[in-house]
Amino acid sequence: MGDLGGPYDAVVIGSGMSGLVAANLLAMHDRRVLVLEQHHHFGGYLQNFMLHRTPFDSGCHYVGGMGEGQVFDRYLRYLGVRDALSVERLDEDGFDVLDYPDWSFAIPMGYARLEARLVERFPDEAAGVRRFLAEVRQEVLQFPMYTLAAAEDPMGRSLDPDRTVADVLDACGLRDLRVREILSAYRALYFVPTHEASFAMHAFVFDSFVQGAYAFHGGGNAVMKALVARLRAQGGVARRRVRVTAVDVDDHRRVRGVHTADGAYVEAPLVIAAIDPKVAVSLLPDHAVRPAYRHRVERLRPGIGGLGAYLRVDADLSRLRGTNHFLQPSREGEDPLFSQAWLEAGTPPPVFVTATSTREPGWRGPHTVVVLSGMRADAFARWADTRTGARGADYEALKAELGARMLAPVRALIPELDTHLVTADFSTPLTHRDYTLNGGGAIYGIHHDMRQSAGRGVSWRTRVQGFLLSGHSVLYPGLIGAMISAFYSCGEVLGLRRLFEEVRAA
Ligand SMILES: Cc1cc2nc3c(=O)[nH]c(=O)nc-3n(C[C@H](O)[C@H](O)[C@H](O)COP(=O)(O)OP(=O)(O)OC[C@H]3O[C@@H](n4cnc5c(N)ncnc54)[C@H](O)[C@@H]3O)c2cc1C
Repeated sequence: MGDLGGPYDAVVIGSGMSGLVAANLLAMHDRRVLVLEQHHHFGGYLQNFMLHRTPFDSGCHYVGGMGEGQVFDRYLRYLGVRDALSVERLDEDGFDVLDYPDWSFAIPMGYARLEARLVERFPDEAAGVRRFLAEVRQEVLQFPMYTLAAAEDPMGRSLDPDRTVADVLDACGLRDLRVREILSAYRALYFVPTHEASFAMHAFVFDSFVQGAYAFHGGGNAVMKALVARLRAQGGVARRRVRVTAVDVDDHRRVRGVHTADGAYVEAPLVIAAIDPKVAVSLLPDHAVRPAYRHRVERLRPGIGGLGAYLRVDADLSRLRGTNHFLQPSREGEDPLFSQAWLEAGTPPPVFVTATSTREPGWRGPHTVVVLSGMRADAFARWADTRTGARGADYEALKAELGARMLAPVRALIPELDTHLVTADFSTPLTHRDYTLNGGGAIYGIHHDMRQSAGRGVSWRTRVQGFLLSGHSVLYPGLIGAMISAFYSCGEVLGLRRLFEEVRAA
């Protein structure tokens, strides 16, 4: 561990997207910051990991809003890391393709093109399609932190915070199940069914991708490295393999510092916990928060865990370079991902497929393909107390069986799997849990339904002075959600309005 140095104005727990952004914000405003990361890599779900000496991306396969002047681009520019990153624009004419057994649809960039394609394909639904797209655009306009348009209150307020995605699809009079599937396809990116998902959250995800879908060259690792380097250049300190085990709070409910697993103590009047809120609150002593609050946080429903396949394929896959595929092995409308019906039925799950290495300039060797699906962690409950690499033969057998089921629909998209598959490795919710400590190995943190999303489940503010929460469980999921949550948390200290104006001016 080494000497953690100090004194510090702030400790940030966790070096995922949110923790690194929070640390940078504080360092940019002359705070002496220490980031503590329990894992041996920085980045949380931003990190790449090696399999067979080949890097795989964990949780940053593509992002929205990275075109010049778009939302993510502007935030990264303000943070001073945009020029260190290079990106690949995905296929404008179809960056995401939804593949069902008997139909498919390619989602293009830009509202005009998307609307034209939908109306041409589903003329009877034209009015509803237009209305839905208008609703999305109207909704995001309510959030200056997202649009970065001039505003008195940067936080904004939803047009109707109680609307679900299903409510809006209904209100628009959309009946054709295929149109409903297309317009709600991104529920598979935050893992919440349409009747539970907030329309505001959906609108952000939808809008950012329709603005412009991009992949970072070097994957999430490139983003992590840029943020760590920028932090260090501003005097911040980041340490790995240091797990925070307790937050020290005085009798007046003011933060004093943190204890680590190695027995170190770091004094700081501000602690930002950019980690699973349940873990964060478990670090607080009994007197710091009311039992009712602790109970509420403990009862937050975790999101669906991740099931991943990491393939190396020795074939030319350049045709997949600009496009991700959502493969739906069963008919629309059944939402097997959420019912987990596929698990019991012994059928393949719906999967997301992305050929990450095809986007890497100068890539040599077999191509990497990542296949993702969602799975409840309780299916792996009997191995909950085991660690990666030591879970036993029956776990490996189940993993192999699930892996084979995941790959079944991918074979139609990539027939080369039959002849040119070099290696296939699989991850389960337990794998994801072990390297980020996200409860249930959840890909997007807590279950982002109406009751829990956007600070409704747990706010970034706490009753402990100097203790704030951040991360994808606190606001919205995904890299943009995790990043903006750090602005909300740091806004409590630095002034949200000030940060907002600074981003706008950058
Ligand atoms: C398989 C997968 C694919 C994804 N694909 C995309 C995508 O293509 N686009 C997109 O926008 N989003 C994607 N996401 C979601 C996105 O990666 C996450 O929402 C986001 O990265 C979360 O960032 P975070 O900072 O909130 O949390 P995390 O990344 O979970 O970071 C939390 C960090 O805190 C550390 N930590 C926890 N407890 C402690 C402790 N006590 N002491 C010290 N350190 C601690 C953890 O080790 C971890 O590094 C994906 C996620 C997964 C898993």
